[in-house]
Amino acid sequence: MSSGMSSYALSYMVLYHPKLVLTRYGNANTRYVDRRDPVKSHPVGKQQDKSNTSAGRGCDRSKIDTVTIHIMELARNSDETRFDGVNAHFAVLRSGTVLHLHDESEYLFASHDFNCRSIAVEFEGNYPYKQQKNGQYLWWSDTYPTPRSKQNGPTVDQIVAGRALVKYFRDRHKIQNIFAHRQSCGKVCPGPHLWFNIVKWGVEKLGLNDGGPGYTTSNDHCSGSVIPSHWRDEKWAIDLSKPFSNSTFSGPSPTRGNICIPP
Ligand SMILES: [Zn+2]
Repeated sequence: MSSGMSSYALSYMVLYHPKLVLTRYGNANTRYVDRRDPVKSHPVGKQQDKSNTSAGRGCDRSKIDTVTIHIMELARNSDETRFDGVNAHFAVLRSGTVLHLHDESEYLFASHDFNCRSIAVEFEGNYPYKQQKNGQYLWWSDTYPTPRSKQNGPTVDQIVAGRALVKYFRDRHKIQNIFAHRQSCGKVCPGPHLWFNIVKWGVEKLGLNDGGPGYTTSNDHCSGSVIPSHWRDEKWAIDLSKPFSNSTFSGPSPTRGNICIPP
């Protein structure tokens, strides 16, 4: 045991270890994988900690009160070794695995005006985000710049793991807010599935604050957009009692989506 750490601090760390909390709230497929060390030697991942920039130094990471939700617009078969370059504190894979990529104390350029106050979470996948007048759906990244991912939808295991992770933030960090990246930078990110089943769920079930229907913010680099009213449509709800079926959504309507992270 390291000297200098009180038994209270130690028991707190053990009690709220993410592996333990995710097991408590997740299902049989919820797994915690700590990738913080591999990320530190990844050519892209190792550059993402911006704690020593002027913005980072001006930010007190002990005052985190928010989680910001993102979509990757790509899937890599939930291979836990292939996400070390993703610029977020955590990644929730379609398998139900939760990757810990950066310590929550690190300041990342991930969520624009929410960076200082928030923990960034990226969800794996390339999900439909909009229904057109002809009834077909648009996907994100089918043509960006070459297909990066097949069209797919969130899995039940992913939504269960994502909700368990939000509960970890509530228990461990006492977060009060859950925001969409779109609200700080006018992208589609994270799209309606994740907004409905993670953000709206967090508001209704955990009492978290999403800023209200008209809430946006901005900084020197980007301005946010409001949550589209159609994201509140019940059609985006995922029934956790049965496997999610892509057949609910008819495509293809390949389009270049409004991307969230670089390829
Ligand atoms: Zn994003």
